[in-house]
Amino acid sequence: MTQGRPLVVTVDDQAVTHLVDFCREQGRTRLFMIADQNTYAAQGRAVEAALTAAGFDLKQIVFTNDEVIADGEHVFAVMRALDTVERTFVAVGSGTITDITRFVSHRTRSVFISVPTAPSVDGFTSTGAPMIIAGVKKTVYAHAPIAIFADIGTLTAAPQAMIAAGFGDMLGKYTSIADWRLGQLLWDEPYDEVIARRTLTAVQLCADNVQGVGHATPDAIRILFDALVESGYCMLDFGQSRPASGAEHHMSHFWEMKLLHEGRPAILHGAKVGVATVVVAGQYDSVRALSRAQAADLLEASVLPDRAAELAVIDVAYGSEAGEVSRDQGRFLDLTPAAHDQLKRRILDHWDEIQAIAAQVPPAKEVARLLQTAGGPATVGEIGLSAEEQALAFANGHYLRDRFTVRKLARVLGID
Ligand SMILES: [Zn+2]
Repeated sequence: MTQGRPLVVTVDDQAVTHLVDFCREQGRTRLFMIADQNTYAAQGRAVEAALTAAGFDLKQIVFTNDEVIADGEHVFAVMRALDTVERTFVAVGSGTITDITRFVSHRTRSVFISVPTAPSVDGFTSTGAPMIIAGVKKTVYAHAPIAIFADIGTLTAAPQAMIAAGFGDMLGKYTSIADWRLGQLLWDEPYDEVIARRTLTAVQLCADNVQGVGHATPDAIRILFDALVESGYCMLDFGQSRPASGAEHHMSHFWEMKLLHEGRPAILHGAKVGVATVVVAGQYDSVRALSRAQAADLLEASVLPDRAAELAVIDVAYGSEAGEVSRDQGRFLDLTPAAHDQLKRRILDHWDEIQAIAAQVPPAKEVARLLQTAGGPATVGEIGLSAEEQALAFANGHYLRDRFTVRKLARVLGID
C-alpha cells in the first residue's frame, strides 16, 4: 500500500531547483505559497524568488503574528488571500504551516507541495491535519503533499530546539512500537511486523547518530529527516498512527489539551513526546524488573476497576471532553469480570513475550541521555510543566485512545 505517498521526496542542497523543475514538469505554474515570518526568512524568500524568476504566477500569504496556530482564524486568512484561480499550494514551514496548507488545499480540491524548514515532526506525509477547533485539538481528514523538497542547509540551520523535537518524536517510537506489540499480544489489535521493524530501524539510526544530531551536522540531519519521513510512511502504509504513537503520545496530547484550555503557550510536539518517552520508558523499566512469580502475585491481587470510579476520574481529568473520552474507552470500561480474568491469564501466559517486548525499550536513563545529547529537554521542568502535571498525564493520558499500552498493562498489574 503506497496510497497517498508524495511522488517525490528530496533532501539535498537543491530544494528550490527541484521545486521549480517539478512545477514545470507537472504544469503547475499557478501557485500559492504559505509561510510565516521565520520560515519566509529561512526559505520562503528563496522559493518566492525562484518561482517568480521561472515566470510562474505566484500568490502568497506570510503570517506576521507571533504564534501561528492551525485554527479557524489562520484558515480564514488563507481563504481571504486566495483568488478564484486554481492554484497548487506550497507550504514553506514545519508542522503548523504544513497542517494549515494540508487542510486548505484539500478543502479547495487542490494539492500541495511541502518545503520543510525544520526536521521537527514525523507528520509531513500525514493525511490528517491536527487543527484547533473551538479550543480543542482535532485531527481532520486532509491529504499528504504531492512532493517534499527539503533543503539540507535550511534544516541544519533550524533552531536546535526544533531539531531536538524531531529527535524526541522519533525516540517515542521505542515505546510506541513496544505498546503496539503489547496491543497485539494482549488486546488483539491489528499489527504489522514489517512496519514495526521499519519504524524501529528508523529510530535506531537516529539514536546511533545522536552526536551528529546534537551538532546539527548535515549527515545526521539528513538521517533524522529521512527517519521522520519513514515514520510518516509507516503510518500511511498501516493506515493509522498506531506505529508512531503510544503512551508517550497520549501524555503529550494530554499536556497539549491542558495548555490550550489554560491559555498557556504551546510546547513543541516532539519536545513533549521526548520528555514523555523518558517517563514511559521508566514504566517499561518497572515491568522488566518483575519476575514471573512477582507478576503472578500482582495479578492474583488485581481487581477489576470500578466503572463508576473510572468515569469519575475521566470526568475530573477531562472536564468538557470527558463524554467523548469515555466513549472511546468503551472496551476497557465495559470489561466484564470474566474478560478481566481472561486478560490476567493472558498476561501471565505471555510473560516471557512481554519481557522480550519490554527489553526492546531502552532504559529511561538512556532515553534521557539521548535527548540531552541531541540538545533537547529530558524532564518536565525543562519544558515548563510541573511534576504534578507529569503525574496527571501519566495517570490519565491512556484514557485518550482505545489502544492497549504499557499504561493499561500497569493498571492490570496494579503497579501504578
Ligand atoms: Zn509525534
